[in-house]
Amino acid sequence: MNAAPLFLADGRRAGVWFCGSCKATWGCDSSAAMCCEPSVCSCGSACASPWLKCEDCRRADTAKLEQDRWLKARKLDGMDYHGWVWSESQDRFFRDIGECLDAWFDEQGDGADVPTMYACKPFKMAFDAAGWIHGRLEAHYDGAEDDMPKGCFAELQSLMDAWCRRNSPTSHTPDFGTAITWERL
Ligand SMILES: [Zn+2]
Ligand SMILES: [Zn+2]
Repeated sequence: MNAAPLFLADGRRAGVWFCGSCKATWGCDSSAAMCCEPSVCSCGSACASPWLKCEDCRRADTAKLEQDRWLKARKLDGMDYHGWVWSESQDRFFRDIGECLDAWFDEQGDGADVPTMYACKPFKMAFDAAGWIHGRLEAHYDGAEDDMPKGCFAELQSLMDAWCRRNSPTSHTPDFGTAITWERL
């Protein structure tokens, strides 16, 4: 509860606050004030900072979100769907329903419930030049990015964009509007 503003050498406020206990800096005073305070979840349980909710409540929120999503989605019989599948139960993509079910029942046993599956839709990939350079330079000296020649990011971006237009790299993303059902035989 002891956040303090940071001042620049000329006496102006830096717009940054620090925690009086551990001296970590934060972008707003309320975060700095909460930094070393134990958080209490709305259910009354203590929770580890920086979480504002305890693990049980976070898990319950996720379960609720997944259930609502499933209820709202249109249901498509797996027999009528061909293509990539997002398995929420396995937290991964599969090339088709068969691969998904094989992996699931191998792991869970034949008596398990059918996993929660969604259809996928394709999307054209795009790449970010600045992000790519940033990744390449992470292990280099501080400021290596700033020392790159002016305009080089934009030049690489236009090369990457042209490459994407020519090659159309494609990936898949879950279509949470279309849930896949599967009748067990
Ligand atoms: Zn702190
Ligand atoms: Zn809680």
